[in-house]
Amino acid sequence: MKQYVVGVDVGGTNIKLGIVGPSGQVIVRNSFATKPFASSRIKLISALASQIEASIVSSGLIKKQIAGVGVGLPGLVDYEKGIVRFLPNIPGWREVHLKSILQKKIKLPVFIDNDVKIITLAESQFGAGRGVRNLVCLTLGTGVGAALILNGQLYRGEDNAAGELGHMPLNEHGPKCNCGGFGCFETYVGNRALFALASRVMGRPGMTTETMFALAQKGNKKALVYWKMAAKQIGNGLVGIVNLLNPRLIIIGGGVSNNEKYLFKTITDTIRLRAMGLQGSAFKIKRAKFKDDAGIIGAYVLVTNAQR
Ligand SMILES: [Zn+2]
Repeated sequence: MKQYVVGVDVGGTNIKLGIVGPSGQVIVRNSFATKPFASSRIKLISALASQIEASIVSSGLIKKQIAGVGVGLPGLVDYEKGIVRFLPNIPGWREVHLKSILQKKIKLPVFIDNDVKIITLAESQFGAGRGVRNLVCLTLGTGVGAALILNGQLYRGEDNAAGELGHMPLNEHGPKCNCGGFGCFETYVGNRALFALASRVMGRPGMTTETMFALAQKGNKKALVYWKMAAKQIGNGLVGIVNLLNPRLIIIGGGVSNNEKYLFKTITDTIRLRAMGLQGSAFKIKRAKFKDDAGIIGAYVLVTNAQR
């Protein structure tokens, strides 16, 4: 029976691999640094292929037991055509036919997708979003990623590019964003913006969300005010999404979600205050269940959904 999937989670820093079984359990884990291979696309793809083979060997499984390989990548990915359109943080990755190249090398079916979409599949099937038909999954970190489950299915959009909540423009005169736009949600709630806000509130440079969390834990009043401000900015960006999509759940993951204690209540209050009555009373916010394994577990869902 082909009931296992090899999950691969490509990040700018590390590449994580795992073999996942039918109930979402990870039976083998492996990882390697991206940097030594980042200079060449061919080198990186060869490294992926050999690590996939090595993971299968170390699991004791044979290829007949593997339904396929799911690969998550941090950028624009055309799931249907199997093409990586663009990876902003790994040089040289434009229009790469990764699906067909990898399939030839490892002789297993390969499916590729954007990493946040894959994380969202993991949360939807096995995590915080189990049983919820309409949800938004948000990852807050250096970048702001998002994906949508609508009517029980991942919403991809016409070009597999839907879900760029981080690049929803909130203010045409706002700060310039990496995407080329101005005043995107990410320019207000990405790490850079939250660190800058922290330094401004504390009146000294070099503050991070970690230091602000530690200060808040000690009861520092400025730090508590800071978290209210940060949470309000996040909530303000989500009001329109709640009105537009009427989700039952907003899942928040990524590094910033470690500060749930100081964020989630104010985010919820902000949305409730500003959204339309029905939509504003119908949603909940939950923290993502999976951390390091999210991309690997989601790859299992990606592959098994594709083969249904
Ligand atoms: Zn942007």
